[in-house]
Amino acid sequence: IVCFIGRSNVGKSSLIKALFSLAPEVEVRVSKKPGHTKKMNFFKVGKHFTVVDMPGYGYRAPEDFVDMVETYLKERRNLKRTFLLVDSVVGIQKTDNIAIEMCEEFALPYVIVLTKIDKSSKGHLLKQVLQIQKFVNTKTQGCFPQLFPVSAVTFSGIHLLRCFIASVTGNLD
Ligand code: GDP
Repeated sequence: IVCFIGRSNVGKSSLIKALFSLAPEVEVRVSKKPGHTKKMNFFKVGKHFTVVDMPGYGYRAPEDFVDMVETYLKERRNLKRTFLLVDSVVGIQKTDNIAIEMCEEFALPYVIVLTKIDKSSKGHLLKQVLQIQKFVNTKTQGCFPQLFPVSAVTFSGIHLLRCFIASVTGNLD
């Protein structure tokens, strides 16, 4: 199992569609509950993927946090890697930090994926990448040292990320 976690709208469903567009056996429809709840939502995608949607807006309800941690720990046995999606246009936000702190606290191996890289200019993207890379190098323990910048629109970076996932899940041909 791998897990994709990120704020609402960061591009999780789009990324999963892009990653598995060549695998029609994987059910990629991520059902979304209408309306804005402050709760974290978990979705199963196929057998091997879990998507965690974290609504933004300064979320910090302790009971939801407990829910989330429990679900994590339940799946932990099979949880190979957590992919934390960060919008490359705006960089690391408060909600992203909560997810990072959680991964660090529970010593989960995680990887930061930068989404929507087609949206900003090369200069802006480079600035964000360098800033986030510096953050990863100096402020994290469990984060994979390499960032994965991707676009679900141009498919840039998708192949490499797909190979990486195949490699960590032991599905590399
Ligand atoms: P989720 O809420 O995290 O599942 O996010 P979605 O996958 O639904 O994407 C949120 C919005 O961002 C949608 O309007 C997508 O079309 C857009 N989006 C997602 N990925 C990309 C991308 O790589 N490039 C661009 N330009 N837009 C994207």
